[in-house]
Amino acid sequence: MSPKAPITQDVMTIPRKLPEGKMNLVGLTRDQLRAALIEHGTPEKQAKMRTGQIWQWIYQWGVRDFGEMTNLAKAYRAQLAEHFVIEIPEVVTRQVSEDGTRKYLCRIAGGHEVEVVYIPEEDRGTLCISSQVGCTLTCSFCHTGTQKLVRNLTAAEIVGQVMMARDDLEEWPTPGAPKDETRLLSNIVLMGMGEPLYNFENVRDAMKIAMDPEGISLSRRRITLSTSGVVPEITRTAEEIGCLLAISFHATTDETRDVLVPINKRWNIEELLQALASYPNASNSERITFEYVMLDGVNDSDEDAHRLIDHIKRHNIPAKINLIPFNEWPGAPYKRSSNNRIRAFANIIYQAGYASPIRKTRGEDIMAACGQLKSATERARKSRKQIESEAGLG
Ligand code: SAH
Ligand code: SF4
Repeated sequence: MSPKAPITQDVMTIPRKLPEGKMNLVGLTRDQLRAALIEHGTPEKQAKMRTGQIWQWIYQWGVRDFGEMTNLAKAYRAQLAEHFVIEIPEVVTRQVSEDGTRKYLCRIAGGHEVEVVYIPEEDRGTLCISSQVGCTLTCSFCHTGTQKLVRNLTAAEIVGQVMMARDDLEEWPTPGAPKDETRLLSNIVLMGMGEPLYNFENVRDAMKIAMDPEGISLSRRRITLSTSGVVPEITRTAEEIGCLLAISFHATTDETRDVLVPINKRWNIEELLQALASYPNASNSERITFEYVMLDGVNDSDEDAHRLIDHIKRHNIPAKINLIPFNEWPGAPYKRSSNNRIRAFANIIYQAGYASPIRKTRGEDIMAACGQLKSATERARKSRKQIESEAGLG
């Protein structure tokens, strides 16, 4: 795979000004928002109504400036601006692939960077968001897992990625105008950098905001959380978030899965399958996605396909199997299975009665495909440095 030059690459270096001592309202739950308003002078009696108004401005209309909140008294707007900000991650670079995929490099507090990918399709637009900077897990086929620096993203930084993409897609409605039902950003997948179930509360709060009907209002069925298999948190995902679940399965024996997805040493295949079998929301209309990366000679035999089906059938799990052609990265210890091998594997699964779509690789020319996100960050970092030094800034 030789990444081609992207069609466009805008580089914006917006200085990050975090006004001292001000609190960011983005990412707060409704209760937290209400408490923050009361703490800073909103009379308790009015707090519920003000919470609703401010919530709508932020999440329904995409407003970031208290001055634009025209249904609030001028003095109250000024009071809000004194104590609060409405802040989302800043876009550092934005690349658009030949196939329309957009990749954003976003800067968050502390100068860390995360990547966000927007994938337009005929009937939907999916935003792939990150939950951590890097990942503490070390799946051997994933480049993100080799990144040392890790911190959990805040709820603001997680829902902020969605707001940032809506900005770029110019998808905020105009206040007062009728609701537009066609959505450029219709789906969210938590499949970027990080293990979302190791940052449960922030992911939950952010997704609750994305689902809130008086705001971004995405259906819980249009949000998919992908986990490598943090077994104790799986049930909570259904109970507290209610979104769809995808599992990075990737191997059919513990021996192989221990190597590919080392969290398997903590919770093995059997324990994982038991947790999935009792996933509260799973049904034929809400199947669990088994993600399976196709690695040449490692996990892609006919026997693997049969074992995979056997695991799923034995536990009676409503499932679909998403085969992911391995995306190579510099120094990766694996090769992608051949197209024929992937098709043969898919066919065995299909014959057994399960959907077995092969994930189309998107945004490869801008290194936006699954598992390529770390290298992309480093490349972008380098090019920004070069740009800054060329401009005499560095
Ligand atoms: N940490 C979570 C979510 C992020 S990874 C998880 O592991 O599920 C999103 C998906 O991309 C996972 O299924 C992951 O296994 C897959 N992936 C990682 N590296 C990849 C690569 N190099 N090629 C193809 N898929 C990859
Ligand atoms: Fe982390 Fe997921 Fe990559 Fe594993 S596949 S290292 S859990 S991001």
